[in-house]
Amino acid sequence: MIEKQAPKKPSSIEKVCHDSECAERISLLEPDQLNLFKTFTYCPYCAEELMLICQNCREQLNSFEYKYCPWCGSEFKDPEGK
Ligand SMILES: [Zn+2]
Ligand SMILES: [Zn+2]
Repeated sequence: MIEKQAPKKPSSIEKVCHDSECAERISLLEPDQLNLFKTFTYCPYCAEELMLICQNCREQLNSFEYKYCPWCGSEFKDPEGK
């Protein structure tokens, strides 16, 4: 049996820094801190503008408004859950 496409699983938009050192620090944040981090526009470690990526496929996005990932088709769940 050939699997055509993996079923779309919910993903979320992650914020990361272009700098790999910062990205490492960000990955070590507690979930609470990470939630706060998601509201940031600039990296608190190097002041660079943060980039948005799909948690599922790690591809870069250019809008927070997306409901679905243009790269893997995952639906973005509202992290606030409203
Ligand atoms: Zn940074
Ligand atoms: Zn994706």
